[in-house]
Amino acid sequence: MARVVDIRCPHCDVTSRALLPEDGLLVLGPCPACHEFVLLVAGIPLPVDKQVILYGSTEEKQEHLFSVLSSFLEQRINLLIDQVEENTDRLTDYENARQFQRVDHPEMLAGSPFPDATPLMQQISTEEVRQFVEEELPRLDDSEYFKTIFH
Ligand SMILES: [Zn+2]
Repeated sequence: MARVVDIRCPHCDVTSRALLPEDGLLVLGPCPACHEFVLLVAGIPLPVDKQVILYGSTEEKQEHLFSVLSSFLEQRINLLIDQVEENTDRLTDYENARQFQRVDHPEMLAGSPFPDATPLMQQISTEEVRQFVEEELPRLDDSEYFKTIFH
């Protein structure tokens, strides 16, 4: 279903209602107030050069839209990388402090579209893997020990 969204024109700052189609990943159209062109990327308005859109060749339009989109994506990707690196630093701090054993890290989920997702690197600590490989794995052949785990 299409949804109605408020779009603030990046050219003139006037907010207008727009109809965003269901798969409205990319929508291109003129601002009703100033008639400059706006590229909506998942509902986020980016300014586009009207001259290129109206009078440019197909290649020029492609190139212009692609460069608008790629500089936007570059910014967003850098934001994501910042978030990931910030969280990685925190996890590394935990490990260095030897406090990293099955600790929940809700901050890993900040900004995540999956609120129930398991944060990366949370479930199994290096120590647990070492313990399993060195102590428990060889003993799986030991039927007595096996029975203490599996009844
Ligand atoms: Zn406008």
